[in-house]
Amino acid sequence: MANLTTLHDLFVKELRDTYDAEKQITKALPKMIKQAHRDDLRAAFEEHQQQTLGQIERLEQAFEQLDLRAKGVRCHGMAGIIEEGSEMLAEKGDQAVLDAGLIAAAQKVEHYEIASYGTLVAYARTLGLTKVADLLAETLEEEKSTDQRLSRLAETGPNRQAATASR
Ligand code: FE
Ligand code: FE
Repeated sequence: MANLTTLHDLFVKELRDTYDAEKQITKALPKMIKQAHRDDLRAAFEEHQQQTLGQIERLEQAFEQLDLRAKGVRCHGMAGIIEEGSEMLAEKGDQAVLDAGLIAAAQKVEHYEIASYGTLVAYARTLGLTKVADLLAETLEEEKSTDQRLSRLAETGPNRQAATASR
C-alpha cells in the first residue's frame, strides 16, 4: 500500500501499476499471436508486442528520470482483462468468430491502457514533469492507434465474416 499524500505519490502509484500491466501484456500477446487465424490480425498483434517492449523501456526511462527504481505493483485490472481474454483463447468454434472475440479482448486491453496513460500524462504535466509527460504521451498515441487498427480489422474482416458464418 502506498501513502498518498501528494499528486506525485499518486502518479508513482499509477506508474507502477502501468509498468506491471505492460509486463502482463507481453506475456499474454504471444498466446494471442498463436491463436489468431487471420494474417492481418496476427501481424497487428506481433507489431504491438514489439511496441509494448518499447513502452516498457519508456516506463523504465520515466522511473530513471524520477530517480526511482523500476518496480511494478500488481495491476489487478489488467489481470482481470487478461483472464477474460484467456477464456476466449480456450474457446473452440468458427475461426472468424474466434478472431472477432480476440479483437474484442485486445481492445479491452487497449482501452484500459489508454485510461492509464491518459491519467499519467495529465498528472505528469500538472506536476511539471515535461520530459516524463512527453515519453508517456508517445505511448498513449501508440495505444490509441493500436485501438483504431483493431477497430478497422473488426469492421473490415472477422466480424463481417463472423456474422455470416452460420448462414
Ligand atoms: Fe502498452
Ligand atoms: Fe497496448
